[in-house]
Amino acid sequence: MGATKPVFDAWFESWNDSSERYGLDEIVYTARDGGLLRVAHNMDELRKVSGAEWRALFEARAHKTEWPLGSGVWGKKEWVCPNIDNENVVSMYEGNSNLFWAERYGRELGLDELWIKQCGNSHTGSFKDLGMTVLVSMVREMISRGRSIPAVACASTGDTSAALSAYAAAAGLPAIVFLPRGKVSIAQLIQPVANGAIVFALDTDFDGCMAIVREVAERDGIYLANSMNSLRIEGQKTVGIEIAQQFDWEVPDWIVIPGGNLGNVSALAAGLDMMLELGLVNRRPRIAVAQAQQANPLYLAYTRGFETFEPIAARPTLASAIQIGNPVSAVKAIDAIGRYDGIVEEASEAELAEAAAAADRTGLFNCPHTGVALAATKKLLDRGEIRKSDRVVVISTAHGLKFVDFKVDYHKLALEGVDAQHANPPIELPAKYDQVRDEMLRQIEKRGRAAG
Ligand SMILES: *Cc1c(COP(=O)(O)O)cnc(C)c1O
Repeated sequence: MGATKPVFDAWFESWNDSSERYGLDEIVYTARDGGLLRVAHNMDELRKVSGAEWRALFEARAHKTEWPLGSGVWGKKEWVCPNIDNENVVSMYEGNSNLFWAERYGRELGLDELWIKQCGNSHTGSFKDLGMTVLVSMVREMISRGRSIPAVACASTGDTSAALSAYAAAAGLPAIVFLPRGKVSIAQLIQPVANGAIVFALDTDFDGCMAIVREVAERDGIYLANSMNSLRIEGQKTVGIEIAQQFDWEVPDWIVIPGGNLGNVSALAAGLDMMLELGLVNRRPRIAVAQAQQANPLYLAYTRGFETFEPIAARPTLASAIQIGNPVSAVKAIDAIGRYDGIVEEASEAELAEAAAAADRTGLFNCPHTGVALAATKKLLDRGEIRKSDRVVVISTAHGLKFVDFKVDYHKLALEGVDAQHANPPIELPAKYDQVRDEMLRQIEKRGRAAG
């Protein structure tokens, strides 16, 4: 380190005007022009530590017990949320998720190196934990500094509400979640219910829930936990840093990520930006954002060369967590795509369901959103955008166990418009040895033929 000890600092600033700034402990969600805020860091201070020193520091902290630095997010505290008392951090040791070499599935697709970043192997089963730990910790910090915050609220397609409810419950803070009635999975609904949140199931879609939560934030002083609050992005941006760290600071050729509200791809790029700026890596991956065809406003804008971005009415999709027609972070995502030579691809319901099921057959257990990303990967490979020898990382956003209803329906052949080529329903037979043996031998033979 240099002669003077660095003094790390971060603040909110307007996306469009970096001179408009607010403290991270101020209750502010949008800039004066109505646009987004971002969290900015004092990069001159961060630069006083060399890239090699940062790498060593991050490696030394990962998985260790020193509170809260063993968390994948808080191990990078100086880059995420430097001015928070460790006592106020609400962490469940999120992050540090497995980067899985999907050797067999990659081979089936025709890729030498397909890796899956298992962000769903986390406390509440999705990557939303990465951002929520930062937001809820900051709420605690604000309360300790004397601010009055009666409750924290979010609109959600399921996973955000599960993360908010768990972290708020751990901190003893009231949480309020607004869910579109009948549009989230049973597991996603039961998590906030079990964690004691105030759960509203509203007769609308995600975008309708978003309008309500913005109103209670504005009128009733409830703290807004949606990803338009850029504190979430700060935690989520560790995902790209972790991927580089797991490859011994080599950057993959491609990162494929499913996108709905588009906070996560913005976060991915923000983390990659910091690594480049601070000298931890010297190369950019390309980014591919994968959308469900049923909820594809970014894809449509991409096909128009981003000349305009038009919100759409999102139609029902199995990938329910990305059924969003008016993504809050579209501006940030388009910027990220520009800087990372990005591509946007879409997947139909049949494509996402078959991709998730095919990958499951190789030992994975994928949520439908990961299915969207896997289907997009296949399409980009078939089109020659992704090459066989490229190292590809697919971001798996949630655990498949949160979406068992999707899997049950797939294997029951109950998904409309999906052939379910990999359906594997249980074989129901009387408990008679001869019948069981005949069927068993038939099945073994059939699987042997399929494996070729
Ligand atoms: C939230 C979520 C997404 C989409 O992330 P955005 O930041 O909204 O683009 C994808 N998959 C799962 C499982 C999610 O919970």
